[in-house]
Amino acid sequence: MSEFSIIEKYFSVLGKQRADVIKGVGDDAALVNTSNIQSLAISVDTLIEGVHFPSVTSAYDIGWKSLAVNLSDMAAMGAEPRWATLALTLPKVDETWLSEFSRGFADLAGLFNVQLIGGDTTRGALSISVQIIGSTLETGALKRDKADVGDGIYVTGFLGDAALGLKSLNEVLPLSDTEKQELLVKLNRPQPKVTESLKLASYINAAIDVSDGLVSDLSHILQASQVAAIVNVNSIPVSRAYRWCNNFTQSYDLALCGGDDYELCFTVAKENEREIMVEAEKLSLQCTRIGEITEGTTLTIMDGKNEYSVQQKAYDHF
Ligand code: ADP
Ligand code: MG
Repeated sequence: MSEFSIIEKYFSVLGKQRADVIKGVGDDAALVNTSNIQSLAISVDTLIEGVHFPSVTSAYDIGWKSLAVNLSDMAAMGAEPRWATLALTLPKVDETWLSEFSRGFADLAGLFNVQLIGGDTTRGALSISVQIIGSTLETGALKRDKADVGDGIYVTGFLGDAALGLKSLNEVLPLSDTEKQELLVKLNRPQPKVTESLKLASYINAAIDVSDGLVSDLSHILQASQVAAIVNVNSIPVSRAYRWCNNFTQSYDLALCGGDDYELCFTVAKENEREIMVEAEKLSLQCTRIGEITEGTTLTIMDGKNEYSVQQKAYDHF
């Protein structure tokens, strides 16, 4: 199968076919209509086998996740995703793999009205780069540098489940097969909080998505905003499965430092804290207050009256 037949068969019509796409796949570059857009939000992420997903990951899940991590960046910016491009490097042509990969990608793209408008297809070690382009609200994008002293710090969903899922592949954990399966779904099919972020944006001061682990990602907000934070470790939202394993390990390290959750972490001014909880409830979004922004520059994690010391370091590629 030639490069061009691969593109034609699997990638020429993928995702929502949007009215603002003037030219999608098929020319030297894609053309989109940007009238009525204030600013574009643009981001790219690469997934490498063995680094960003274990080799046992299904092609469907790789397709899903490669777009999901980018949609999560749009959520963190309060941006509405519109168009994606895909640079795909494959060791060989495997039609079953391609069909499943494109189905996973397309299912998620369809859910968020994203159209695949171009890309590049080459041969080599498996690598997937997705670029996402979105538009930001008139009220402006969410940024990391807008946290203020006194803001409440919130996270969505549960933390640590994806990391626990990854751990379950290599270690024996005190969990049922169903529980392990649920954790692997968290790892392989992240649900980016795009809709939720757009709805809550007007109440949020600073935001980031939790991709590398809470400690690392919240620290980015603190550094960008030149503030400090106190987080209460006992308020970190963890699942039943996590709690169960935690009874054995007595550790919040995975929830604090594990990556791949793709939840949102954001700060909210005092006067908006009530309102944002009401709005989150309407969206059936689990939102937990985990601490507060203070003066200074450091992140302090408290366990009751004592400081909680984190044993595990956040993931860093280098
Ligand atoms: P060029 O040689 O001009 O770079 P290509 O042969 O790489 O063009 O690609 C032909 C067309 O197919 C272009 O519109 C490109 O954007 C698109 N394309 C190539 N690979 C992919 C892919 N994996 N997903 C989506 N579109 C792709
Ligand atoms: Mg090309």
